Amino acid sequence: MTIDDGRDEGCVAAPELSGAVVIAAADGEIDEPTRAHLRACPHCAARVRQMRQLQTRLRRQLYRIFCPTTDLLVDYCQGLLDPYQRAPITHHLAMCPCCAEEVALMESVERMPDPLNLRAGGFFAPRHIR
Ligand SMILES: [Zn+2]
Ligand SMILES: [Zn+2]
Repeated sequence: MTIDDGRDEGCVAAPELSGAVVIAAADGEIDEPTRAHLRACPHCAARVRQMRQLQTRLRRQLYRIFCPTTDLLVDYCQGLLDPYQRAPITHHLAMCPCCAEEVALMESVERMPDPLNLRAGGFFAPRHIR
């Protein structure tokens, strides 16, 4: 069985861009010959687009690897951390949309009236030192 969907004709300006060049181009490091190639060649331009999407996905996953735990973010929001603990989290929040969103959410909960008394005994209760 052959795979031929008739959409991708392959590189129109062979030799096609190498993997390393595609990665560099996705990062925005494009030299003149590469730029000219990408203008002429939808095949390689598509490869660069795909690479960029892949990098965006990977970067999002990387964020999560270095993310502080939710517990730590709760402490952060409540001002329970000392300055040495706060600094790296403040720094992280500036770079990480995932955690920034989480903190924004927690802060909006903090500002809400507290009909369920969450802060007294549940979700936002201070925890013991691990
Ligand atoms: Zn090409
Ligand atoms: Zn994060």
